[in-house]
Order: sequence, then structure tokens, then C-alpha cells
Amino acid sequence: MEKNETLIQYFEWYLPNDGQHWNRLAGDAPHLAELGITQVWVPPAFKATNSNDVGYGIYDLFDLGEFDQKGTVRTKYGTKDEYVQAIRILKDHGIATIADVVLNHKAAADGLESFEVVEVDPEDRTKELTDPFRIKGWTHFYFPGRQGRYNDFQWHWYHFTGTDFDAKRNQNGIYQIVGDNKGWSDDSLVDNENGNYDYLMYADLDFKHPEVVQNLYDWANWFIPTTGISGFHLDAIKHIDSFFMKNFIRDIKANFSEDFYVFGEFWNPDEETNTNYLEDTDHRFDLVDVRLHYNFHEAGEKGADFDLTTIFDGSLVKNHPDSAVTFVENHDTQKGQALESVVADWFKPLAYGMILLRKNGKPCVFYGDYYGVQGYHAQASFQEDLDKLLLLRKYLAYGEEKDYFANANTIGWTRIPDELDRSPLAVVISNKDDSAISMYVGTQWQGHVFADQLEHHPDTVTVQEDGWATFPVLGRSISAWTLQQ
Ligand code: CA
Repeated sequence: MEKNETLIQYFEWYLPNDGQHWNRLAGDAPHLAELGITQVWVPPAFKATNSNDVGYGIYDLFDLGEFDQKGTVRTKYGTKDEYVQAIRILKDHGIATIADVVLNHKAAADGLESFEVVEVDPEDRTKELTDPFRIKGWTHFYFPGRQGRYNDFQWHWYHFTGTDFDAKRNQNGIYQIVGDNKGWSDDSLVDNENGNYDYLMYADLDFKHPEVVQNLYDWANWFIPTTGISGFHLDAIKHIDSFFMKNFIRDIKANFSEDFYVFGEFWNPDEETNTNYLEDTDHRFDLVDVRLHYNFHEAGEKGADFDLTTIFDGSLVKNHPDSAVTFVENHDTQKGQALESVVADWFKPLAYGMILLRKNGKPCVFYGDYYGVQGYHAQASFQEDLDKLLLLRKYLAYGEEKDYFANANTIGWTRIPDELDRSPLAVVISNKDDSAISMYVGTQWQGHVFADQLEHHPDTVTVQEDGWATFPVLGRSISAWTLQQ
């Protein structure tokens, strides 16, 4: 029988720096399996700038919390052994683990080097502001705490395209490194925001350099078998040479398994740009559906003024359903973060209904929405609704999907399973007043009583002789009607 896949992003930005996250994840494995989670996307496991680093200030890809580097053995989340153990325990519960992989840049180098640069305009990185001059930059990585274990490669200035700090003058800027075969990635291979968006932060890897490419292949050939990981989440790919990425993923799948699951964060809501990127990379990996997230954000802000029939417009899940990872919130969109665009609380259960109960897209539940976020940037937990939605997805969201997008403020759809004895599902959403939609669920259900499994609507509904029924919903709410238990 068909089984729905469901992803969880098992972290948020403000987790405590207690080194216990891998252990918490391992302990949560039975619960996640029970909810129908099939894949867990975990935060970057690599040694970063310090133990409080969320993981994107990456220092050493070969240190998973094993060596005394950057003032700590463990990472924010724990040790290498705990990471590997969590992956194994998840696997024992039928759950695949997806590693967050940060390949764009390296941070917190071990030494300074002197090299030639030009300073470029941050608003247009193709525009040089100066003649070439020498700076002292943090580009020498030799990993003294690891002593060449697993890999003895040392990074130098010529393995990078640019950096952001000149220690000689104590000046910040975007410094493009000058030399033979240097320069940003070709404009056609990275995002075109700011002229050429190859440079994001820290020391930016030069994917034109054969030693860089070789080292990343060496790393993948070590990392994948060492950890037992089942896939990658590729961070910041709009800043990375798409030609490298396409070949890298092709070769990893060829070396390990065609089932090795890869999806990327290409942070751009533009339809055409997403389509072009998928084509440029031969559809070798999925992308997160950024446009759908922004549609959810806008719908939450506008309330009844948002036309719900347009909620999927421009989205990846509409245009490229087989390549879309749908999500409501993530570690970058939550409060206080770089891409803050929080989806309004009242709209979150509706948005989750639209990713978890539909046929297309691979939905990703955000840890911060499930468990809530503590502290200054606190966000509510939606565990009660999410538990119900996840179980509906696990057991009942199967088969043909038919849309009943009634009007700008009320939309609905049905899922009719192939098995005649399995309950159909009828979902109704309103962003304004109490409302209802008449939908067909099948003549075999005539006289049967349906109830809202989300327990938002108190009524029951009896299916008519002709197989139709009128399914109600409260204002600014979602109801999911199935056979009453
Ligand atoms: Ca880059």
C-alpha cells in the first residue's frame, strides 16, 4: 500500500547550546515514527565558529564534534558519536536522516595570508571599486586540533573567490581575490541578485579550483559511509556554482544510491528562476518551495483580503510538483532571523493543512512549529493540531484529489482513496466567516456520518444519497472531515 512521505526539520535557530540535541532526537525516534515521519532533516553537524554556532559558520567538514577545535570538542548539538548513534536509531525506526550540508563558505580560519584583491560594490559585485591591492585575510585552514586525521588537505587563499575582512587595515568589505583563473562563479551559474551573488559570507569557496572540487568529493566519500546518512539538504545553493552541484549530486547518487535524497535551499520566490535552476541542474534534486512560504505569509497578514484561490499561484508545488519540498516556516524565516517572514499564528494550521493533506509536494514540518520556540523570540507550539494533521496524512490522505475552490474566502478539496472501505477525506478552509462547501465523497458513503478530525467544528455531517455532503468550517479555520470513529 502507498505510504505518504513526511519530512521534519528537526531544529530551530534558538535551541539551547547544551550539546544534547542528538540525544533528544534519538529519544524522539519512536514518537516521530508513530506520527508518520519518514525523513528527518538535522542541523549542520560540523565544527563551526564556536559551540554556540547554529552550524552555518562552518569551520571543518571533517570534525563532527570529535576534535578540540574552536574551543570545543562537541558542537552545539553534541558529539560525533551521538550524531552517528541518533542516525542509527532513527534508521531502526524506519526514518532516514538528511544532513544539512554547508559548502558555500568556510569561517574562523587558523591563519592569516597575504594576497591580492579588488574591493567590489556590495550592491553590484561585478563592479570593482578599487585597483588590485594586498590584504591580510583569514584564509589558511590547517585544522591543528585534527592533525590531518581523515584528510590532510590545507586550505589557502587561492581556494577561495573572496573574503570580507582585511586584518592589515582592520576593514570590512567584499574583497574579490585576484589571480590566475580567479573571479566569481560565472554569472549563469549563480543567482543574479547584487549583480553576481556568488559571495554570501566568510571565505567563499572557489568551485573552479580542481583541488576544492577534489576535497569535497573526498569529504563526501568519507562522510556518507561514516555517518550512515541517507541524504543532503544543500544550504545556500543560489550562491554556489550550479554546474558543480549538478555533477556532485550525480556522482554521489552513482557512488552510493539513486535513493540518496537531496533537496536544496534556493532562496528565490521567482517562478522562472526556480524553473531555470531545476533545468540547469537536470532536476537531480528537489528545492524548497519558497514562493509557497511567501504566499502563506501574505495570506496570514492580509486575512480575508487574501484570495485563497490563488494560494498555490507561482509555487513550485504547482509548477513542478515532483521537485517541491513544501514548508510553512524554517530556521531562517522565524522571528529575528535573516529572512524573517513568520506565517501568522491563526493561519498556521490552515497552511499546514495545505501541505500535509494534499497530494503534491513533500511536506516539511518545522521543529519550532511543533515544539514551539522559547525565549526572547518565542513562537507558539502547534503540536495539538500538527499531531492530528500528521496522523491524517499517515492514514487517510491518499488517492485522487479534487479541488473545490469555492470563492476567495473558502476553499476545499477531497481525497478519495482507491480502497473502497477506506474513508475519504474532505478538507475545508476559510479565511473569513463561517462557511461550507458541498463536495462529493462517493455514493457508498450515503447515510454515513462524518466528523471533523481536527475537532475545530463541533457538528457532524451526514452524506446524502447522491454521495455529496455539505462540509462546514468555522471562520479563519480548517476542518478535515472523515468517517466518524
Ligand atoms: Ca559562493
